[in-house]
Amino acid sequence: MLYLKQIERFGLSFAGILRKEDIETNFSGGSVSDRILTLLTQYELNPGRLYRVKQEHSDNIYVIDNKEKTEQIPADGIITNIPGVTLCISIADCVPVFIFDAKAKILGVIHAGREGTRKRIVQKALEILTSKFKSNKKDIIALIGPSIGPCCYYLPDDLLNLCKKEGLIISERKTLDLWISNEKQFVDYGINKQNIFIFNECTFCNDDYYSYRRGDKKSRNYAVAMI
Ligand SMILES: [Zn+2]
Repeated sequence: MLYLKQIERFGLSFAGILRKEDIETNFSGGSVSDRILTLLTQYELNPGRLYRVKQEHSDNIYVIDNKEKTEQIPADGIITNIPGVTLCISIADCVPVFIFDAKAKILGVIHAGREGTRKRIVQKALEILTSKFKSNKKDIIALIGPSIGPCCYYLPDDLLNLCKKEGLIISERKTLDLWISNEKQFVDYGINKQNIFIFNECTFCNDDYYSYRRGDKKSRNYAVAMI
């Protein structure tokens, strides 16, 4: 597992990405959720209950209310203030975004691909943190995890222009930059830029990850985190 120390160090039990190597060597038996739990346990983590949702490139965010089965709930982000449970989203080129209120101890794990970024899903998550949980913007830390990067995210001109019109960031090489686009959404919301970390690793360039665009249509990396 790739451990994301940049955000873990603010007080999370763990935050990381299960990548190709983890999945190919140790992933068997039972449902996908069972396999993820087994894998985390093998890494000497204590994952507790695992929460996943039905991801469909929406801007819906599910706040855990102790439902046991959440896998059929349509959402692309999960938020909790409960310690000792694992939040998990699957990714294969889309951006996993981790949001943590280090003072009030509120955690969000968000799936922000092109559609989620266009829908400003991270700002929807921030609205939940600041309204429902009364988070103070200055206490919020964010990590924009590994995803397809501005080195590789080519799109047809009409789609690229649409993204630009909607306020997303287009790189000099005429690619969509999901990292800076999401960073900008945090900054526009009032989050301190120094508290936003970009992991800066491209899943399309780097064979350590599954990449949808590189041909992995079924396999997924998993972003996991726990308070
Ligand atoms: Zn790349």
